[in-house]
Amino acid sequence: MANVVVIGTQWGDEGKGKVVDLLTERANYVVRFQGGNNAGHTLVVDGKQFIFHLIPSGILHPGKVCMIGNGVVLDPGVLIQEMDKLDAANIPVTPASLAISHYTHVIMPYHRALDEARESRKGSTKIGTTGRGIGPCYEDKVCRCGIRIHDLMDPGHFREKLEANLEEKNFMLKHFFGAAPLDAGSIADEYLAYGERLAPYAANISEVLQGADRDGRNILFEGAQGTHLDVDHGTYPFVTSSNTVAGNACCGSGIGPTRIHKVIGVVKAYTTRVGGGPFPCELLDETGRHIQKVGGEFGATTGRPRRCGWLDMVVVNSSIRLNGLSGLVITKLDVLTGLPTLKIATKYRCGSHELGSVPPELKALEACEPVYEELPGWEEDIGSVRRFGNLPANTRRYLKAIEDLASTPLNLVSVGPGRDETIILQNPFD
Ligand code: GDP
Repeated sequence: MANVVVIGTQWGDEGKGKVVDLLTERANYVVRFQGGNNAGHTLVVDGKQFIFHLIPSGILHPGKVCMIGNGVVLDPGVLIQEMDKLDAANIPVTPASLAISHYTHVIMPYHRALDEARESRKGSTKIGTTGRGIGPCYEDKVCRCGIRIHDLMDPGHFREKLEANLEEKNFMLKHFFGAAPLDAGSIADEYLAYGERLAPYAANISEVLQGADRDGRNILFEGAQGTHLDVDHGTYPFVTSSNTVAGNACCGSGIGPTRIHKVIGVVKAYTTRVGGGPFPCELLDETGRHIQKVGGEFGATTGRPRRCGWLDMVVVNSSIRLNGLSGLVITKLDVLTGLPTLKIATKYRCGSHELGSVPPELKALEACEPVYEELPGWEEDIGSVRRFGNLPANTRRYLKAIEDLASTPLNLVSVGPGRDETIILQNPFD
């Protein structure tokens, strides 16, 4: 038995959805531990595409238990929509297949309103938030005025908390942002109805996980976004509002660190980034546009085009350190097919210094120039390859270069979006 955390090593969108879906075959429990419905996982199963923002993609596997941990911020309207969509596709979501922590914080309409009002006021210094209220919900959690799932099941207490919160939020909306205030009565009706619908799914996730671990079951922790979007360790302030690093799998679900056995980092074979923020390996040329087109690099949640660039091992190696990665998964390798020469950034040159890890200050990172190693590309279609040895020599050379630069073993290589389009070198559950 093993408990495995899967996280993104770059700025998100590494293809974690497919990797988690694949590893779910061996897991009994799949747990989300941070983020909200700003994450978007796209999966292709039997040629059918599914996009999830909240429910762990493990829901597509019968007999698995999916969990939304306390570290997630939950928009109940969005969750219920996902549940209904799955029901309509004959994939029923029941309390046996989905559990939500009592402690999960709830995204309220005032969180969304504040998120939007704040972002539009920022003009050119926009962080690139998706406007879904995730940041303001985390603020309230830390400010100790947040509303949690269990509050939705206690109408009197919920109305009191809501009214107290709205007094302050409406003041901000009206007098600071010049936006419309919100009405407590209609919010209460809407959210208490959500509470009734979700009550059967609310559970003490920490206790359930302890029981599962003691019974020798496999638990998979599914990270959202990527390491360099971590609120502490990422390229602040161009980050998300939660800790995306593997350590948060423990805090965000209520399992102790000694119960985690492996941490797997998903590395896209090149680098992408959505929204603002420094990106040393960005390609603003034809090659960048080619990768964007072939890789379909447009956000699953927002449709925004992603900025594309060469693989940055400075970014990946910082992730190896921050997450204690035990293995790597390389995704979207097929997207690089046909490019005559490939580049991998091995370090940064920053003035007279050379750096092997991402510097903490934005200004320093903006001043960094990547130092590249060049490798020959390959022309052959690799989508149907299932064994490492059957890959073209130059593809193997590219993968070996990554493994050597990372000093961390490759576990899986993904050569297409489908579940079977994967080369398995070492299953982390073995
Ligand atoms: P996530 O949030 O990290 O899961 O990333 P996305 O949802 O943005 O997933 C990336 C996209 O790439 C999805 O459309 C996947 O179907 C697709 N994808 C995943 N792995 C591969 C791969 O190896 N090759 C190709 N061509 N597409 C992939």
